[in-house]
Amino acid sequence: MVRKLLAAVLAAGFLCGAPAPAMSAGDAFDMSAAVQLDDSGVSLVDEALSAVPVRYEYSDLYDIPAARARYQQASVANTTPADIIRDGRLEPQELFDTVRANNAAYLKNSEKYSAEYMEPSDEALMGYCSVIAQTITHELAQGGITSTYDDLAYNLSHLTIFLAHTVENAAITEDGCMVVSPVNLENMKIISGNSDADKITIAHEAEHLLQKLSSPVLEAEGATLGYGYGLYFEDLAVNSLFHKWLFEAAAESLACACYDSGPITYQQRVGYLNSLTLALLPAEDFTLLDVERLTQQQDLEQVFRVFGCKTEAEQTELLDMLEAINIILEDDADFWSLYQQDVLGRTASSQERAEVKSALTGSVCTTLSKLLCRSLADALSRKAVPLSEVFTVLSVFEKDMTGHLLASGDGASPTGDPFPEEYRAVQDAFFSVLDEALTLPGGTVKNAYGSYGLGTEAILGGLTCLDNPKNAFFARMAGIAFSPQNAIAP
Ligand SMILES: [Zn+2]
Repeated sequence: MVRKLLAAVLAAGFLCGAPAPAMSAGDAFDMSAAVQLDDSGVSLVDEALSAVPVRYEYSDLYDIPAARARYQQASVANTTPADIIRDGRLEPQELFDTVRANNAAYLKNSEKYSAEYMEPSDEALMGYCSVIAQTITHELAQGGITSTYDDLAYNLSHLTIFLAHTVENAAITEDGCMVVSPVNLENMKIISGNSDADKITIAHEAEHLLQKLSSPVLEAEGATLGYGYGLYFEDLAVNSLFHKWLFEAAAESLACACYDSGPITYQQRVGYLNSLTLALLPAEDFTLLDVERLTQQQDLEQVFRVFGCKTEAEQTELLDMLEAINIILEDDADFWSLYQQDVLGRTASSQERAEVKSALTGSVCTTLSKLLCRSLADALSRKAVPLSEVFTVLSVFEKDMTGHLLASGDGASPTGDPFPEEYRAVQDAFFSVLDEALTLPGGTVKNAYGSYGLGTEAILGGLTCLDNPKNAFFARMAGIAFSPQNAIAP
């Protein structure tokens, strides 16, 4: 890394009445000292992080460039607008009438399913339609749903709803039926201990209707499936831009936000989604639910914007990470079949699969750490922030990453450090920029972080670098307190 003389400034500030945490003898600064970065300081962070390459094992198998090239070939199509949504509202009665008519036509024309599907009673159907209408109207009021708006209207005006015992709770089929298991919905209330579990499940499916591209658009684009920016092509070896885990996590997160609830299903997927949000949290322009909203729009460039990717290398690393999580959580079958065929030449054992997943988890944590350091640099460029806050954010993040590493079976390295070398290199690079900003000898901030003990008080009181909704999210991630401040009213 080329070290430049840093023009970053130290805004010397001391928090009144806040005693400095214990430091070892010889430490020359107070941890409550505030640090601020100017533009060249932010560039230095960028430069330092870019100099740490993150290796995604077997990324040649899932081949992000090939997937992006396939996207380029797809012709962009639009669906014919339908008028079921008026003035940003979906009326339950209109949806009920539409679904009733669609159901009748579907059952008449589809002998294959008529034995399996049952028609819901008027009362049950009205209940489902009310939850769907409420969810859609709420989401439309949040704004931002533009590129998939006509797809949504198409999905709703062609919606069918059936009951079946063959689905886990509820699902949207490839041909656009919402299939519900009323028995399992009732069971979910008991299992989750949440009396809204049935409504949340239907709201989750309604969120999929906001993500799903309409069948005419998919046909025109030559894709089999499409959710938000993700398209699935049969002729692609690995669909590494189709992040099923994120579409599920986002649907669950948004549905639960309407009911002020934690996830009742897909907890691990929502866990990774929350890690993405945590990594972006300090950035000034980032708003809660921004990551979820990426699944309700079609533009891959918007994904790069939200994650602050400025270079092609950063874009590829981001996409590597999102697909790596897909392999970890969804067992991407196309990837594993290539791995077995091209790498092993035989069937992989469960241990071998676990080792690949574990290595990928380390890389994911490293990329997330880069994202977090960039967001922190952005926060530090806006205002002076006490170093203790920076440490608090890093500590909570690290605790979250440790959870992913432990779940992947890692955490038992010879050094006792669950994090890969690259992860520490990212952190060291960030700390060295802070050393310069604070005009301290190299290694001082790193050592201070090493002796920092995370306390709960700072989090409960709120961090000055986060607004209130972000502080509430951060406290939840710290496992300290749940605050409904950022919950969205249904
Ligand atoms: Zn789902």
